[in-house]
Amino acid sequence: MTAEGDSGLLRDTTRVTGHEALVQNIEAAMSLANAVRSTLGPFGLDKMLVDDEGRILVTNDGVTIIDTARVEHPAAKMIISACTIQDEVARDGTTSTILLASELLVNAWEMILQGIHPAQIAAGYRLASEAAVQALPDIAREMNGDNELLEATMTSLAGKGQSSSRTHLAKIAVKAAQSITVVSKTGPPMATGDGTLKDEAEETGMSGGSESGIRADPTLVKVISNRGGVTTDSHLVRGLVLAKSCIHPDMVDWLEGGKILLIDGGLERRAPSLDATLKITSPGMLNAFRDKDRDILRQQVDAVIALAPNLVVVRDGVDDEARQWLADAGITAYRRVESPDLDLLARATGATMIHRPESADAQALGTFASSREELWYETTHWIMEGSAESGATLVICGTTEEVMAEAERCFDDALGVACQLLEEPYLLPGGGATHIALARRIRRYAESIPGREQLAAEGFADALEVIPRTLAENSGIDPIDALLQLVAKQTTHGDWIGLDAASKSPEDMDEKAIREPLRITRQVIRGATDSAISLLRIDDVLWARQEPTSPDESSTKIDSDK
Ligand code: ADP
Ligand code: MG
Repeated sequence: MTAEGDSGLLRDTTRVTGHEALVQNIEAAMSLANAVRSTLGPFGLDKMLVDDEGRILVTNDGVTIIDTARVEHPAAKMIISACTIQDEVARDGTTSTILLASELLVNAWEMILQGIHPAQIAAGYRLASEAAVQALPDIAREMNGDNELLEATMTSLAGKGQSSSRTHLAKIAVKAAQSITVVSKTGPPMATGDGTLKDEAEETGMSGGSESGIRADPTLVKVISNRGGVTTDSHLVRGLVLAKSCIHPDMVDWLEGGKILLIDGGLERRAPSLDATLKITSPGMLNAFRDKDRDILRQQVDAVIALAPNLVVVRDGVDDEARQWLADAGITAYRRVESPDLDLLARATGATMIHRPESADAQALGTFASSREELWYETTHWIMEGSAESGATLVICGTTEEVMAEAERCFDDALGVACQLLEEPYLLPGGGATHIALARRIRRYAESIPGREQLAAEGFADALEVIPRTLAENSGIDPIDALLQLVAKQTTHGDWIGLDAASKSPEDMDEKAIREPLRITRQVIRGATDSAISLLRIDDVLWARQEPTSPDESSTKIDSDK
């Protein structure tokens, strides 16, 4: 059904319409899912990614894989964007999001072949996903103590990296998360269902009440890598650490508290602007210009000195003369501190960044608790502890860049999970238990939906089972048998029966300590449903100029499944 656009406006586009458009989009989603399927769960395998310069990246992280793979197809890009949001919001559950979105689309296609309209499927999926979100608190239970926090963090790292470093990284992630928690007055806004649905879960009354009033913002933790040592030497430092030393030998590099000034700019002579022409007519003129520039710089530095900070941190450069003047005034300074770090410093010290020292007042100053320098593996590091949201820095040690990069990704996931749990301390069973429990509930709920949307809700329930099925496959057991056993045991032993990858059998996930944050699963369901629905609504794709191909040419063709 591919047709060249016939109007003048669409001359340079290739147009794919109707079912053809949908088939292509679903195929793109499937090939994306196939690319990450084998990484799910504790026995998931790693992927080796090679870029065009031959650099190698070995990872188990869904979002890293699809970020690195060059994906052209717009439909795949839409799912990737849902997955990236998942990564930003929850830091975990990215592979699950892709798998669920793709499975929803595959099931939708089967329904379309039976004559159900995509809009009806979308409506049914929406109902089912809201029902699922509402039912989550019913399955969940409150987290109990630090040990469960650590265990959930460990679960999120299952299958990533080596087990010795995993435990270590999980422990410091929990410590980091705890060190940045603050009790907020209003509490974080907690996403809840829009309440349009009445079902059994609502009666638990928990869906709106699970926030803790605690804020743990993972962006307060900075990660730096330090070549030397092994991953288990990685450690957490209170405050912000930068591989820098102060800019003048006379400056004091050990301060016990004081005031700090942050300059979003430099203390430099102005660079001559490019289109200016200087016409030198007398011998002293060039010197006069230089003197003028020096005066301006002097005024700037004087303005800084007048504010009386103990510490000055500058985003750009500091000229030699200015360094000397600052050192003479007893001020310690650091330069070329990148914007994100300056931001962290501002948050840690309560300082406001200034652009021009001449127009700043003392209110812009922040306070810090300590500032010192230490030599680690032959590099000087500046360690600054603020007074406000002090933050923390994880120093990742490792022998190679690759090992450190994977350790950083593990730590990011673990930190995200720990922060989520501190903010919303509710746990769900892992090992696919939650998905099976939800599927059981949604099948029951579907009976109450009139019309064809009912079939779509059932299709949604089937799609949820992709998680336990894939976990079974990756553990090397038959997915159909595993699913049957799980469902059977859940009906007698309750929602917390899931697949234990180690024993390859249905077990109580609470006993096996395989638990996950409620918030992550909720985000997976929402993100996957949203991207599947938006793809279902598309029946017209206009390609500019040439038609890119699916991300993976060997992708499963939908027709061959039939
Ligand atoms: P994602 O990117 O979606 O987080 P992961 O590769 O981290 O993907 O896998 C997470 C899945 O693995 C979750 O569904 C979790 O319940 C499951 N899982 C983790 N540990 C175990 C275990 N020991 N046994 C069974 N399933 C597990
Ligand atoms: Mg994970």
